[in-house]
Amino acid sequence: MNDENAFSHIKTPITPDGRTGFNERGNLMAWTAPDESGAQSGYYIADVRPYKCYICDRGWGNTTEELLNQTQDASHPGQYMHKTCLYGHQKLVSRNQITDSLIAAGFLFDMTEIPARYPGSTPWQRVSVLLGDPDRTDSSFRIVMGRRRHVWELRLHGAGDLSDKFEDVKETKGYQEQSKEDPELGPYYLVHAWETDQMIDYLSRFWSAIPGLTPR
Ligand SMILES: [Zn+2]
Repeated sequence: MNDENAFSHIKTPITPDGRTGFNERGNLMAWTAPDESGAQSGYYIADVRPYKCYICDRGWGNTTEELLNQTQDASHPGQYMHKTCLYGHQKLVSRNQITDSLIAAGFLFDMTEIPARYPGSTPWQRVSVLLGDPDRTDSSFRIVMGRRRHVWELRLHGAGDLSDKFEDVKETKGYQEQSKEDPELGPYYLVHAWETDQMIDYLSRFWSAIPGLTPR
């Protein structure tokens, strides 16, 4: 937003720092604190002071930082949430969907959370596939998986080129495949799944390429 814009000036501040308030058109605005170069970003925001967050059931404190931490459910306009609460919810759902899909595909596994491989995504998981023996021996096969925008990305490590196992689904919506290299974990075979049932199917195809795995 341009600082020169007359409507960007706050006429009636509502926070003690004066960075949030109503402009002369009656729109509520919030300005970020100046960065090193003195630049600020301005946002039109909703007046969420009378509301409670749909997720945590708490309201908003009367500071610019608190009031900027807001978003609303696109399918339920007027139902406000903290941005941070929505992210926490998405993070939990994503991890649960990964865990449930691995179980549904029949894997025994250990899972470690790793940073998202794409900006704005929820954290990813690094999965070690365990064999079904009494010692739960590490198979050395790995799966690195998480959200990439609207699809699940599965990076299947240890089985080489899996293209023959995915022959019949290559026309499926959202499907992509590629052989790539991870600096730490080495080569992997990449597939994209649009829905969690596709993710379970694709995990099962990988599973069938791992020697020594016995169906549960
Ligand atoms: Zn909240």
